[in-house]
Amino acid sequence: MNLDKTNAKRAELFSSLYEIEDSISVRDFVRRTYRGSKNGNCRFCEGFRGEATFRNLPHVIPQMLGNKYLVSHFECDNCNAIFSEYEDSLSKYLGIYNTISNTRSASKIPKFKQNKNEEGLKVFVDDKGVVHFISPNLEDIHVNQ
Ligand SMILES: [Zn+2]
Repeated sequence: MNLDKTNAKRAELFSSLYEIEDSISVRDFVRRTYRGSKNGNCRFCEGFRGEATFRNLPHVIPQMLGNKYLVSHFECDNCNAIFSEYEDSLSKYLGIYNTISNTRSASKIPKFKQNKNEEGLKVFVDDKGVVHFISPNLEDIHVNQ
């Protein structure tokens, strides 16, 4: 991967501070797979069962990043709600990327809308995997080859 100077420095800083302990692909999980103990505490707030609720089905990696089956027993509902807000922000940050990279959120590829109203760029992927860009102004779309 070629990074510009700024992002190359960021990547270098990141790898000097963090070490990869494990790597997984969400595509390797084809049925629901749990992490953590069904009787354990929440791994984030250490909330005990009985005090904290564990009714939700938290995903270890957000669904909007393509994870459908890897879920956990060790995240309480309060922490799950907090992480949901972070995931919303991450989803907004990624914007069009999840659409054009064909990343499935739950069972579908998200559509991208630049604006909430009907104006602006819209992007979606059809059943054949073709990415469609719809813009009221063709000058908005530039293709680098
Ligand atoms: Zn918790």
